[in-house]
Amino acid sequence: MHHRSKNGPLSGGIAPLIIYWTAILFSTMNLSAGHCRLIPEEKKFVLVIDPGHGGKDPGALGAKTREKDIVLAVALKTGEYIRQNMDDVEVVFTRETDIFVDLDKRAEIANKIHADLFISIHANGFHNRTVSGVETFILGPTRDEQNLELVMKENAVILLEEDYSTRYEGFDPESPESYIIFTLMQNVYQKQSLEFAGLLQDQFRDRVNRYDRGVKQGGLLVLWMTTMPSVLVELGFISNQQEEGFMSSDEGQSYLASAVYRAFRDYKNSIDKKSLVSVVQNRTKEESEEIWFTVQIAATRTKVELVPTNFKGLKDLFEFPGEDRNRYTTGKYNSYQKAVEYRRAVSEEFTDAFVIAVQGNRIIPLQQAREIINR
Ligand SMILES: [Zn+2]
Repeated sequence: MHHRSKNGPLSGGIAPLIIYWTAILFSTMNLSAGHCRLIPEEKKFVLVIDPGHGGKDPGALGAKTREKDIVLAVALKTGEYIRQNMDDVEVVFTRETDIFVDLDKRAEIANKIHADLFISIHANGFHNRTVSGVETFILGPTRDEQNLELVMKENAVILLEEDYSTRYEGFDPESPESYIIFTLMQNVYQKQSLEFAGLLQDQFRDRVNRYDRGVKQGGLLVLWMTTMPSVLVELGFISNQQEEGFMSSDEGQSYLASAVYRAFRDYKNSIDKKSLVSVVQNRTKEESEEIWFTVQIAATRTKVELVPTNFKGLKDLFEFPGEDRNRYTTGKYNSYQKAVEYRRAVSEEFTDAFVIAVQGNRIIPLQQAREIINR
């Protein structure tokens, strides 16, 4: 049942693959402000909880239990704790029952509602039954053999999906070459994902007494396809007798769920604090009435740290927090013409980049800015 599409990008060598996946990356990441869509007014923090596997796909198998059942139970409990304790959070599940959900569909659910955070919940299985512990993955290149084995196993769920070779354009979850793409990409949400992943591991280690296997990077398709900070947590090894017992008990599931809940609460608190700081900073800056031009390169719902690595190496970065989107720009010019020239240079990397006008710290219509300058 497993075959590679002849027309997939792999058939033409690695270069077309890279171009294809890069195109996908930028189209799904909504980096191009030109495609900025209108988002309905909405103040709640949206969290998507994704219990792995389900239905015909049991996931990893323990002696007595299946991954799909354990992760669903923990996911539902986590959602319950959050709904009980955090009014300003909307929790959405990719599945709430024992059903099979395609991997791209899971990401699509989160992308469509512009979720602020995506948590995929899984449990490990490994041939060595003594291996145990909790680990959290963020999107990135897979660095060691054991991780690659696990990442491949999680991605292999797409082999159960209809028409997977077309839908994932020849991505073969079992071929190491397919994973080269993850060494070339940039994860725009790396910082936030890393922060949340660290908080998760802290909770598991300090409050649930789990062995801490650390935060890892991996080429996980479901994380690749989401357009917000996202992590995939492996709650423990179902292949390890002790951990299977813990994870399948009601008490163990409650502990694990409350760890995810507390990590999420800490993450959200830190985000709330940060956005408060930036609002205050903006107010004080607004006293200036100078008009300047800058080149918008990205608009995202979640905050992105202003470091060149997040913007393909570009410097002179600015952030304009907005109601529905944060806009990111590069360069600062007193002359519109200079900004247009800079846009041309930038557009090689950011094809939809465009010039915007700013007065003080406020974006104003371009026409208005040019009129004021020409007065
Ligand atoms: Zn899994």
